[in-house]
Amino acid sequence: MSSVLLAIRSVVKEYGTGHNCVRALKGVSLDIMEGEIISLLGVNGAGKTTLSSLIATLYPPTSGCIEWQGKAIHTNILTYRTIVGYCPQKPNLNNELTVEQNLRIAGSYYDLSSSEIDEQFKYVVKTYELDGYLDRSPATLSGGYRQRVMIARALMHKPKLVIFDEPTVGLDPHIRRQLWQSIRSLKKLGVTVILTTHYLDEAESLSDRICILEKGEVLLIDTPQNLKKVHDKANLEEVFLALMKQEEPV
Ligand code: ATP
Repeated sequence: MSSVLLAIRSVVKEYGTGHNCVRALKGVSLDIMEGEIISLLGVNGAGKTTLSSLIATLYPPTSGCIEWQGKAIHTNILTYRTIVGYCPQKPNLNNELTVEQNLRIAGSYYDLSSSEIDEQFKYVVKTYELDGYLDRSPATLSGGYRQRVMIARALMHKPKLVIFDEPTVGLDPHIRRQLWQSIRSLKKLGVTVILTTHYLDEAESLSDRICILEKGEVLLIDTPQNLKKVHDKANLEEVFLALMKQEEPV
């Protein structure tokens, strides 16, 4: 039985104030278990990116809290960030630097020693097949390679938790499958993975559990196997479409 890595409790996130206030999360509670791959699913605007950004401590919740080791992550940011790798939806690599510099700087940001940086740099370069691209600016890479660099950078400090926000958007099927493999290898290393995706085949193939968000609330959390069984559907996509249909206003 694995233990709870993050306890997400009654998290509310509002953007803006007054008439312009958008309540993106309306009291989300869930546990993220150590070593699991959990996918956040939901239609556009359901709150997936908001939730993963809060877990990555990009900004604090309006109310509620996310606890790690019994403390709120947003009051313990520096220590917490040492265990988190975040791969955002939009590439944010530094195009003024080479791929190698982007990776090494990520390691030094986390205060790794130069030998630790060397060791992890070699590991990510090998794993993501970046050897021929190290001297290039990320701006000159294809989308697939840029995404690989994003992932490699997120792993430079050997995080215990990695958050991927739509990591395979726009990638060709071959590279998508390679990324799936690398996400599975992270799990084998004991890393916890939070994945935001619109690709239901991806969520089905990779996830231990699925969390469906609906208008800023948790609609359900379950394993893909159980969801297919309970809803008597052949795959997760059919389950998702059936659930979304139920939620449509009549
Ligand atoms: P998508 O699948 O389209 O990426 P999502 O499920 O990730 O959507 P979020 O991006 O978290 O959803 O957005 C949730 C809600 O919050 C939406 O109504 C969105 O318009 C709103 N929102 C997100 N970011 C901001 C912001 N910076 N300012 C104002 N509203 C925002």
